[in-house]
Amino acid sequence: MVAEQLAAQGIRCSRVLAAMRDVPRHLFVPRAYVAQAYDDTALGIDCGQTISQPYIVARMTEALELPTGEPLVLEVGTGSGYQAAVLAALGARVVTVEWIEALARRAEAALAAVGLLDRVRIIVGDGTAGIDGAGPYDGILVTAGGAQIPRALLPRLCPGAALVLPLGEPGHQELVRLHRGEQGWVEENLGGCRFVPLRGPCGWEEE
Ligand code: SAH
Repeated sequence: MVAEQLAAQGIRCSRVLAAMRDVPRHLFVPRAYVAQAYDDTALGIDCGQTISQPYIVARMTEALELPTGEPLVLEVGTGSGYQAAVLAALGARVVTVEWIEALARRAEAALAAVGLLDRVRIIVGDGTAGIDGAGPYDGILVTAGGAQIPRALLPRLCPGAALVLPLGEPGHQELVRLHRGEQGWVEENLGGCRFVPLRGPCGWEEE
């Protein structure tokens, strides 16, 4: 997966490639999909949600350009816990927020099984609202699609840090990187992607 799919598609950061190599993705997918766990594709998890495609996980992680040491990262949308595990394997401490309690509990069990739970704090709720008293963060990832930047998260980013999130329509989004530079915010488009909907006020209208 790492050599043929990630490096071949342009993931260059050796720390990200090593973290992707270290985390056993098959422990984060439902039993029925274990045989496909290392395919470069998103897969269904419970509650109608998905575990992201490995390339997108690697791309989002790389785009954070995290400092070495023990950076603190916020993830909105825990899902399976796989993205949080990759961040933790890279050395980060992770605060991850999940809207659906059952998924948060399952992610907790998977993170414990791979020995990374001590680096990850899982919170049930709306991650776009900002977490009281936590941060500032060395990077923020939103792993569900919406139409708006969750503004409450921006002041929680350290200077020089980035927020990476999918923005667009329900069927198609662009992966956007917002970097908190010395001269202000710099926005960069990292390419097309497709995520499940972000819930709450920053998401698309509820059906
Ligand atoms: N990062 C995940 C994939 C996430 S799928 C992984 O590695 O597996 C998107 C997840 O975001 C879903 O589980 C969904 O329930 C959750 N979600 C959607 N809106 C949210 C919100 N406002 N706050 C927290 N979680 C949210």
